[in-house]
Amino acid sequence: MLRGMAGNRSLTVVIAAYNEEAALPEMHRRLSAVLDGLDAGSRVLYVDDGSRDGTWGVLQRLAEADPRVSLLRLARNFGKELALTAGLDHVDTDAALVLDADGQDPPELIPAFVAKWREGFDVVYGTRTRRDGETWLKRLTAAGFYRVMTRLSDTPIPRDTGDFRLMSRPVLDALRQLRERQRFMKGLFTWVGFRQVSLPYERAPRLAGGSKFNYWRLWNLALEGITSFSTVPLRLATYVGVLTALVAFAWGVWIVARTLLWGDPVQGWPSLMTVVLFLGGVQLVALGIIGEYLGRLYVEVKQRPLYLVSEARLPR
Ligand code: UDP
Ligand code: MG
Repeated sequence: MLRGMAGNRSLTVVIAAYNEEAALPEMHRRLSAVLDGLDAGSRVLYVDDGSRDGTWGVLQRLAEADPRVSLLRLARNFGKELALTAGLDHVDTDAALVLDADGQDPPELIPAFVAKWREGFDVVYGTRTRRDGETWLKRLTAAGFYRVMTRLSDTPIPRDTGDFRLMSRPVLDALRQLRERQRFMKGLFTWVGFRQVSLPYERAPRLAGGSKFNYWRLWNLALEGITSFSTVPLRLATYVGVLTALVAFAWGVWIVARTLLWGDPVQGWPSLMTVVLFLGGVQLVALGIIGEYLGRLYVEVKQRPLYLVSEARLPR
């Protein structure tokens, strides 16, 4: 089909949408204008991530009007990472480009991504130079997260990188082999390697609606990122344990010596409580860390499918 058209290689733009009925028509208008001017065969694949509003209806109308558009509808809201996985699994062109449905990643930049791809890069990822319409708290927590991630993980995740990126066929094939359930896409994208290049861009405010990610979701995404790309927290538990044991040993020696020298009138309830509570706390934290990993292991061994598609409208 589109694949391998002489010289101009083909591209699929993958867009995950969750309750985006307000933003999609404008988004698609801008996207079509860009794709019309592109000298490569192009398609658009919208993944409806179990939206509760009129998103699916809007998407169907877009597909009626534009033969480039194909659709996937997931059986429920699986979350952005899995929605993107579903989309990327169904791409059969020479490259895929991931875009947000809310217009925050400007489609007007697609030609720049394609140009880098033509230069021979396999992954072109957008790096945000500015974050308009985001609170200082979000910027601060995002910066903190990237710092922690770089420290903890062997797979350094480029700072301020979203999911706005172009990936060539070899990278898509590599990603398809990573079937882990706990999908931290930014990490997986980096993990696969290949020739990667950054493309700086300014992240615009949303076209409509609000972010689907509140701080609780972001915190969980951060935990996902850390636990799936680092086992340092487990080792940390060991070190804290060793340190506590050493301090306890030294203190024990001191208590015995003191008792031998000066005797031991009954005393020491406050210190006893302090030690018991401290050790209890440290042990619970260590158990919690083990639990985080064990829980993920449990989910992983169940080997459930990553996502379920309820309806599809794909090119034949
Ligand atoms: N999204 C999705 N499933 C979800 C949450 C979000 O497919 O469960 C999509 C959403 O429609 C948008 C993209 O992921 O296209 C980014 O979401 P959002 O703009 O809310 O995130 P932010 O830009 O605030 O990081
Ligand atoms: Mg957004």
